[in-house]
Amino acid sequence: MIRVTVWNEYWHEKSEEKIAKVYPKGIHGAIADFLGKNEDITVRTATLDDENCGITDELLENTDVMIWWGHLKHGDVPDEIAIKVKEAVLRGMGIIFLHSAHHSKPFKLLMGTTCNLGWRESDDKERLWILDHNHPIMKGIEGRYFELEAEETYTEPFGIPDPDKLLLIGWYNGGEVFRSGCCYHRENGKIFYFQPGHESYPTFYNENVQKIITNAVRWACPDYRIDKLECPWVARIEEK
Ligand code: ZN
Repeated sequence: MIRVTVWNEYWHEKSEEKIAKVYPKGIHGAIADFLGKNEDITVRTATLDDENCGITDELLENTDVMIWWGHLKHGDVPDEIAIKVKEAVLRGMGIIFLHSAHHSKPFKLLMGTTCNLGWRESDDKERLWILDHNHPIMKGIEGRYFELEAEETYTEPFGIPDPDKLLLIGWYNGGEVFRSGCCYHRENGKIFYFQPGHESYPTFYNENVQKIITNAVRWACPDYRIDKLECPWVARIEEK
């Protein structure tokens, strides 16, 4: 069983009626619903308003893959929680950052860069081009591209380190392009950044988006984890 935790700041859905209509159970609820239909995945959720942001040592120990959605409240996640998440990834936990999580504290800590980008909310159509159909995250995605009727436009330059593997390029009918699916390894952990998922659009009900997130969970699930981060003194292996 792959143990997934979906973390959501869960603010827009509680404070804006328009967004609550799109995601009545919250973005985390929508993601948990489709992931939970898979026999090999168990899901729990955590949100910003939970005690400790819902993130405890116990949760991190028992999470194989974390999914992170945040937007306006990145600053409300305490630094020590963000560091715990980062260190869990370095020890082997997989993590998927969605959409505006590009500015979340854990993502910025793991990237080491600004993660800045250009953005515009103008209901542009997005066409997502698939760069490698053989990658496990693209399994079952047919055709050269797929489209989302409307998404928030994100544009290059995107202030990230070069991805280990770039899987998707998003093109918007306003003219911009963006690196929309980026894979990274950080020590023992695997990271996937996936751009679609603005709160006012029904993106997380899209079949291809659901497939990609589900595939990314299986890809990021660790085969190997370590208990602690250390830099040990070691004895010689061979006799002198
Ligand atoms: Zn957005």
